[in-house]
Amino acid sequence: MLETVRHNSPVWRPYTQERTTPLPPLVTHAKGAWLHLEDGQKVLDGVSSWWVSIHGHANEEIAEAIYQQALTLEHVLGGSFIHTPGLLLAEKLLPLLPQNFKKIFFSDNGSTAVEVALKIAYQYWINQGVTTRKRFLSFEEGYHGDTVGAMSVSAPSPFNTKFRELLFSCSYTPFPWTYENDPDIEEKESTCLEALQKILEEEAGTFAGMILEPLIQGAGGMRFCRPKFLKDATQLAQKYGLLVIYDEVFTGFGRTGDWFACTKAETSPDLICLSKALTGGFLPMAVTAATQKVYEAFLSENPQDALFHGHTYYANPLGCAASLKSLEILEKNISGFQLMEGRHLKGLERLAQLPAVQRARACGTIAAFDLRTEGADGYLNPLGKIAAKKALERNLLIRPLGNTVYLAPPYNISQEELDFCYDVLFEVISLIAP
Ligand SMILES: *Cc1c(COP(=O)(O)O)cnc(C)c1O
Repeated sequence: MLETVRHNSPVWRPYTQERTTPLPPLVTHAKGAWLHLEDGQKVLDGVSSWWVSIHGHANEEIAEAIYQQALTLEHVLGGSFIHTPGLLLAEKLLPLLPQNFKKIFFSDNGSTAVEVALKIAYQYWINQGVTTRKRFLSFEEGYHGDTVGAMSVSAPSPFNTKFRELLFSCSYTPFPWTYENDPDIEEKESTCLEALQKILEEEAGTFAGMILEPLIQGAGGMRFCRPKFLKDATQLAQKYGLLVIYDEVFTGFGRTGDWFACTKAETSPDLICLSKALTGGFLPMAVTAATQKVYEAFLSENPQDALFHGHTYYANPLGCAASLKSLEILEKNISGFQLMEGRHLKGLERLAQLPAVQRARACGTIAAFDLRTEGADGYLNPLGKIAAKKALERNLLIRPLGNTVYLAPPYNISQEELDFCYDVLFEVISLIAP
């Protein structure tokens, strides 16, 4: 029965050319860093299942918290009520963010967290009678999600090629991404800051805000920038009056080696989007956090000045309970994310001996490098797909972005398991690009 279903699967897969891509293996269960497949194969999840499973899979404490919450209050409409897990989660999140952050708005995923931030920034100006600030500035190679607004502020890429004409127009400025021992970084940073300064001088009055992935451009190719650039760019945009939106959907909750990219860089944006690791990978949930200043622009006697946005599963109690437990676990294991960069650097050092490995880099819990290629760099470069296939045959799940290969494992991965990841990568790269 199972077989029949799978040869004619009713599931339309994401990001997949279904005509040419064989059906994927079936996962029966997972524990810790390991996925168990139907045929008995055990695969190490080197990417925390799209960057969410920070405590590994099937964590019992989170499972128990969800179960208990489900027996108490599984859901209630967010428009009419609030509940304890929702309040507790907002109260727990705010002190972790820069101190001027005072409000938490709930939604369902990273893209909706971005949509909410964009709508808040846009309406912020309109509510104050400013009618000229209606556009957004964002960064080249940035990625902010797959809904229409999120695609609009994302840089042109294979994720949105077919939709460009549907999207609202947005301006892009360059991002000084860097790697270990990059000789040109100072120059790249000043070039990028000059470009930012120039567009702000000319067009600042037309921008409602600037959105960026702080410290790490994830889907765009694991491109890291230095905290100093983030700080300078944020301050510059704020000096020109733009609201600065940090899309920390990926960088939040320890990924960068600190709680958030903004705490690592000691910067204070105006809006922050969080999702991926929020619930520890158990349930889809997101938040958009706002400063008091932003929030106050929505308070008036006019009902139309309110934020007309909301989702059916607003502040879902199960998601809140999972998030609260995930944060509690994270607080007890801060060293898990703080110490991973050093562990990655050791592994990368070994890989860097291979001639095919270039631009090795680590930021917090993420390690990345580019495979030298004769084709163009970028998402459609086939080298990564070949590497992923060979790695899977050797029991390691990776999902390279074109010829960029990266690891973003659960924070509690053992040294033995991490060594295993690097052993497999070493073997695979030696094989495909000797
Ligand atoms: C994944 C991601 C998103 C989109 O999140 P979804 O939950 O997939 O909608 C947005 N921004 C960044 C930086 C992301 O990494």
